[in-house]
Amino acid sequence: MRQILVAGNWKLNGSLESVKQLVAGIKAGEGETGATQVAVCPPFVYVPLVANLLADSKVAVGGQDVSDQEAGAFTGEVSGPMLNDFGCRYAIVGHSERRALYAEDDEFTARKFAAARKFGLTPILCVGETLEEREQGITEQVVARQLDAVIDLEGIAAIADAVIAYEPVWAIGTGKTATPDQAQEVHAFIRGKLAGLDPAVADKVQILYGGSVKGSNAAELFAMQDIDGGLIGGASLTAEDFLAICKAGA
Ligand code: PEP
Repeated sequence: MRQILVAGNWKLNGSLESVKQLVAGIKAGEGETGATQVAVCPPFVYVPLVANLLADSKVAVGGQDVSDQEAGAFTGEVSGPMLNDFGCRYAIVGHSERRALYAEDDEFTARKFAAARKFGLTPILCVGETLEEREQGITEQVVARQLDAVIDLEGIAAIADAVIAYEPVWAIGTGKTATPDQAQEVHAFIRGKLAGLDPAVADKVQILYGGSVKGSNAAELFAMQDIDGGLIGGASLTAEDFLAICKAGA
């Protein structure tokens, strides 16, 4: 039985004050989130503070990204060991904003996935098609290609210790959520593809949906057979909205 995981991606948002308030709000309501696993991914500079504030909480902390490198002359990068030093459990890799705005391709994403695992972090691997790709009818091809890059580098067994987030790019930050059936169709495709390689891995891996999830639509998404929670952008920036989604998975 897979647990529901709700992970908040705060992106490039927040200030010292707002981060403290957001964490306090989440802590105040976490008791109502039942068995839902909860995580937040703050901007890197706030990771130590957030991890410290959440030390006595069930809410885990993750990086929004992780370097493919361990150490050295890589200006601006943050490594897996550094995230580990501050108690991070997760690292998002291959978010569509990284892929589209920073030209991070499948192979580079796969190396970040490998680095996360090597340094004890659970990668949250984002996959998903653009609107153009959906309209061309190549959603499954795109998602399969994104998964294959990781499987080719790390092997199918590595997926068992990871989290996959299916995030149709056309649904991210647009207010256009995929319908539960649309999302389930792709989640089932992902799980089926993994099952073709290793049924136990497919059965174990949590596959999150991301793309304009809100308190009002989370329950029907999370009720789908192959949807094991959500990766939440905009709605993770206020405690009330984020907690409503966490409660939907409880
Ligand atoms: C995201 O960026 O991962 C995301 C799902 O954003 P939003 O919830 O704002 O669509």
